[in-house]
Amino acid sequence: MSVVVDIDGTLIDISERLRAAMSLVLDRSVLLDDVRSMTTSQLYETYATEEQREHLPVLHERLWNLLLCEDELGFSLLRHDVPIPYAAEVLESWSTTNKVAYLTGRLDTTREDTLRQLEGFGFPVDNTELIMFERADYSGARVASVGPRLIDVRSKLFSAIARNGPVLMVVDDFPGYFEAYRRHDVPDLIGFRRFARRPVQSYIDNGATSVIGCWSELSNMQSPPP
Ligand SMILES: [Mg+2]
Repeated sequence: MSVVVDIDGTLIDISERLRAAMSLVLDRSVLLDDVRSMTTSQLYETYATEEQREHLPVLHERLWNLLLCEDELGFSLLRHDVPIPYAAEVLESWSTTNKVAYLTGRLDTTREDTLRQLEGFGFPVDNTELIMFERADYSGARVASVGPRLIDVRSKLFSAIARNGPVLMVVDDFPGYFEAYRRHDVPDLIGFRRFARRPVQSYIDNGATSVIGCWSELSNMQSPPP
C-alpha cells in the first residue's frame, strides 16, 4: 500500500525561494506576503517595470530556469526552502507501515539535491520512491500549445504508481492535479491548502475528499491501516 505526496508547497515551503527568484528576475525586492497571496501574473503586474512588461516571455523563461534549476543559480536558491511544520513527523510515522512515494514536478536533474534536502529536513528516504518530471515534460507548459500539459504528465506518472499497487492516500497542494488522482480508486485525496490564494472549493471541485491547512490535522492518522 502506498501513500503519494507532492513535495513543493506540500512538504516544503518554497515561497522564500520563489521570492528570491522573482526578485532576481525583476531586479527588485518582491515581498514574501505577495508571493504567497498572488499568482505569477499578478506578481508581474505588480512589480514589473514598463520596460520589463515588454519582455515578459523572456523574464518568465528566466524564472522557469531558476525554479527548475535549469540555470545553475537555481540550485543555490534551494537553500531558501524550509520544511512545512509536522509534515516530516507524519510521513515518518506513515512510512513504518506504508510505502511513501514522492511525486514532484521537480526535474530529474535535481534528484540528488532533492533527496539530500528531504533527508536533511527529516523526511523518510529509505524505502521510498521519488518520481520526478523530465525536461521534455515542461515543453508544453513553457511554450504554450506545444508538448504535453503538466496535468497529463502528472496523470501518467500517478497511473504508473497506481498500477504497481493500491494507493491509500494522496496529499497535494495543487487543486488541479486532483482531476488526475480522482480517476483512480484512492480512499483519501487530501488537498493541502496553506495560503488563501486557492479556494477550498477548488480542491473539492477537482475531486479532493478533504482539505487541510496543517499537517498536524493528519497526525492522529498515525499510519493509515495497511
Ligand atoms: Mg505542489
